Amino acid sequence: MVRGSLGRLASRTLSVAGKWQHQQLRRLNIHEYQGAELMGKFGINVPKGAVVGSVQEVKEVLKNVFPSEKEMTPLQIVVKSQILAGGRGLGTFKSGLKGGVHIVKAEEAESLAAKMLNQVLVTKQTGPQGKVVGKVYLCEKMSLVNEMYFAITLDRKTAGPLIIACAEGGTSIEDLAEKFPDKIVKVPVDVFKGITDEDAAKVVDGLAPKTADRQSSIEQIKKLYELFCKTDCTMLEINPLAETADKKLVAADAKLNFDDNAAFRQKEIFALRDTTQEDPREVAAAKADLNYIGLDGEIGCMVNGAGLAMATMDIIKLHGGTPANFLDVGGSASEGQVVEAFKILTSDDRVKAILVNIFGGIMKCDVIASGIVNAAKQVDLKVPVVVRLEGTNVDQGKRILKESGMTLITAEDLDDAAEKAVKASVK
Ligand code: GDP
Ligand code: MN
Repeated sequence: MVRGSLGRLASRTLSVAGKWQHQQLRRLNIHEYQGAELMGKFGINVPKGAVVGSVQEVKEVLKNVFPSEKEMTPLQIVVKSQILAGGRGLGTFKSGLKGGVHIVKAEEAESLAAKMLNQVLVTKQTGPQGKVVGKVYLCEKMSLVNEMYFAITLDRKTAGPLIIACAEGGTSIEDLAEKFPDKIVKVPVDVFKGITDEDAAKVVDGLAPKTADRQSSIEQIKKLYELFCKTDCTMLEINPLAETADKKLVAADAKLNFDDNAAFRQKEIFALRDTTQEDPREVAAAKADLNYIGLDGEIGCMVNGAGLAMATMDIIKLHGGTPANFLDVGGSASEGQVVEAFKILTSDDRVKAILVNIFGGIMKCDVIASGIVNAAKQVDLKVPVVVRLEGTNVDQGKRILKESGMTLITAEDLDDAAEKAVKASVK
């Protein structure tokens, strides 16, 4: 049921505001260090590395994981912030430290990790609020002779996997596509046949490695495709896919997304979910089993039914406002769930006004009203609340609200409610 509404929502929210597209897709995103480990299991070349969650662990890792100074003099380490967003290399910490990825001498790794851990990194993909670095990945510094771009994604046109390769890499694919449109090679793979040697060879030609052995490169591409299929990836991006002095391809970055619908058969992978990197409003909502999607606007919405929720968001837009969320409390929400929903809305600093729009059918207006009144007792309500109730048990609902003594703005219909909410939000 929840899944059904969200599925519908995915395509419909796009029509309201294309810029929210990234928030509708329910895809598991894992950290680079986890992706690298997974690739290693599939026989893909990855740098030697270890993750730390505290500064104290750095010394141990340096001693146990990395080769002795004799083998690699002077020993250099790539210190990489782990956040669930790209663009880390060019990101900036709120502390002022530039770059989420640094190459340093081994003895400097500890002090650098200290500057990254528990700090907020802002990149092109995180939004201005940034993301907290809870873990730092320490990798062996390889001498990379060439950086390329590699990705596998799902293509609408061919309705199957599509491999994207580019001889240039390291920087963002958007910039690459603009600068080198002719160098981007796309190879669709027949999902029933699987990847052929010819497919993989085309990809290798597109990558145009300078020194890497052709046959072993083809094998690496096939292994990447195998990982993509066997683990139900929706996207696998390696930027840069690099070449080392010893003629090997090596995945120097790892960005993997997985299809939520495959969670039932990918339990190990889905156990890697890191909710500390997610929108805390959505994490709280998921716990209460609410159909909620966080957005960037200023009007918090509590609505029943996905269709009515979409219409409410549209009408807020029409009156010059922007919704802070999509929330469908559904037809069978309990009073407790309504309380949770209201708490999520009121704890959101973005929210300047709340619009409750309930068309009581299976969901009864008195349940919603009791939930609001109960929640208001538990939270410090600082913003105006506009309520429009209609349908089953509407009179009881209105009475509960009135007797609560709460200051509410009542509205006659959806249009009136949206107008009042937008007005209230700018006061
Ligand atoms: P992103 O900015 O979030 O995509 O993070 P990356 O993992 O791609 O790191 C940023 C940049 O650091 C890469 O584009 C590389 O140029 C460089 N880099 C990352 N890992 C290594 C490595 O192991 N060795 C070397 N020499 N450079 C690396
Ligand atoms: Mn990268």
